[in-house]
Amino acid sequence: MPGHLSTDILVVGSGIAGLWFALRASRLGRVLLITKKSDVESATNYAQGGIAAATAENDAPGLHASDTLATGAGLARPAIVRLVTETGPALVRELHETGVGFSTYVDARGREQFDLGQEGGHHRRRIVHAADRTGLEIERGLVRAVKSSGQVMLSEEHFAAELLLDDSGRCVGCQMLSTDSGEPIVVRARVVMLATGGIGQAYRHTTNPRIATGDGIAMGFRAGARVANMEFIQFHPTSLYGSDINGRAFLISEAVRGEGAILRTRDGEPFMSRYHPDASLAPRDIVARAADAEMKSRGEDYVLLDATHLAPELIRRRFPTIHQTCLESGIDMTKDPIPVVPAAHYVCGGLEVNEWSETTVSGLLAAGECACTGLHGANRLASNSLLEALVFAERAADHLVEAGIPGEPGDIAVSLLLPEDGAAVRRAGALREELQGLMWQHAGIVRTDDGLRHAGDRLAELCEQASSLGRAASVPCRETVNLLEVARLVVTSARLRPESRGLHYNQDHPQMDPGFARDTIVDRARIA
Ligand SMILES: Cc1cc2nc3c(=O)[nH]c(=O)nc-3n(C[C@H](O)[C@H](O)[C@H](O)COP(=O)(O)OP(=O)(O)OC[C@H]3O[C@@H](n4cnc5c(N)ncnc54)[C@H](O)[C@@H]3O)c2cc1C
Repeated sequence: MPGHLSTDILVVGSGIAGLWFALRASRLGRVLLITKKSDVESATNYAQGGIAAATAENDAPGLHASDTLATGAGLARPAIVRLVTETGPALVRELHETGVGFSTYVDARGREQFDLGQEGGHHRRRIVHAADRTGLEIERGLVRAVKSSGQVMLSEEHFAAELLLDDSGRCVGCQMLSTDSGEPIVVRARVVMLATGGIGQAYRHTTNPRIATGDGIAMGFRAGARVANMEFIQFHPTSLYGSDINGRAFLISEAVRGEGAILRTRDGEPFMSRYHPDASLAPRDIVARAADAEMKSRGEDYVLLDATHLAPELIRRRFPTIHQTCLESGIDMTKDPIPVVPAAHYVCGGLEVNEWSETTVSGLLAAGECACTGLHGANRLASNSLLEALVFAERAADHLVEAGIPGEPGDIAVSLLLPEDGAAVRRAGALREELQGLMWQHAGIVRTDDGLRHAGDRLAELCEQASSLGRAASVPCRETVNLLEVARLVVTSARLRPESRGLHYNQDHPQMDPGFARDTIVDRARIA
């Protein structure tokens, strides 16, 4: 028999979205925050560049909004972009006051100012950062704030396996598994917030940590929520070639190019000016495709990121982690160009939410990378995702305070999970490896109609093979099932868009088609 727990608000995930929401929602009642690994383990923890907000005197939310809209390739929603860019600066200051130590300096008038970084697609310096460890600092600061609030029960090593719905289709909790003991536990809640992050582990090469298996998107989708824009996957152009740190490629932040580093081919040619007037600071999709094209046409495994002309002192002060990690790989970036390759980095799509973070399932909220708010459209402007997570976590909590949380759920039927078995876990591992290769090859930086069709057919077969894994009380089995689910969502959405727009590039339809200037919405009826 599974154990039982009850809470007012259940939060799944301890990245920036889950932690900020838990902190803000704790005014309303008992909050239980569960997270599948240790408290800080999340994509947030590895963010380097920073969080974008118009805080400088020469900047304004309107300028930040125009940069965001220009990058979104016709699909970023102007009202949402305005809302995020206008509320962002005050919230970033609050984050700082909550104990997140961003890099600052004291100006000539004796006032503390953020030390702002520059990144591609931004026409002002507006990246608030903590050296190149912004995410780590956010996690540390927010976990500390949540723990010291005394209002949130934070439960590490607990995996949300499936959402629970009552007869009316309202979300009333989840089944979770203790990752230590495998014990299933039923959690009843009046409202559930999914803040489970992205899907990078669906690809062979990714900057995302192992937790990024699309659990929230897959669970929400299975519970009936609509999913939007899953074809828009951002590939970061510069991950350290050959690096594999616990399942993720080490990222060389865009801020390095922001400070003047130049992309070159292996024989030293600076190639980006052939692709875009902003050269190495062009939007990420253009840089990733250019690097991919150069590598393919020359038969080379990587391109070079050259920061050797920058002052060594600037590199060591501004990029201590990157400098150190490169040194550990035998590269002194003050003297040697860094070998880099593109890797899957961010999903712009996710569970469709309104301006209060409500999904299309009653009682179910989503924020952060697992949600699709309309901010990014077809492409994400650098450093806008931490901001989006913060703004929408805040709005979700504010709205709950205003509207009140729903009443106690009634009785719910729970289907029992089968005990974990070794053979199933091995099968899950093999399926995961095949799907990662399939996605990298056919649903990656450059796509084709045939490739997408092949990926769709093969994924359907893999889902068939994985059907029994979906009932297992096993984290690896359930993660594989979730990865298959989100991979199918990516491929289905990509096939519904026979054009190229933003992050979705299909060689058979290389132009943008105004007829497709709309979101791609998928629900269970459409994928079945
Ligand atoms: C290397 C790297 C660098 C980046 N740099 C930047 C940057 O500079 N600026 C920027 O704006 N964005 C950056 N991004 C993107 C940004 O970090 C993420 O989009 C953002 O942190 C997502 O926050 P989140 O709270 O939605 O999810 P995450 O931070 O990923 O947190 C998800 C949480 O959910 C938990 N979880 C997942 N599934 C389950 C489950 N089934 N049960 C229980 N818990 C679960 C995870 O353990 C984790 O705690 C970067 C991403 C990476 C990978």
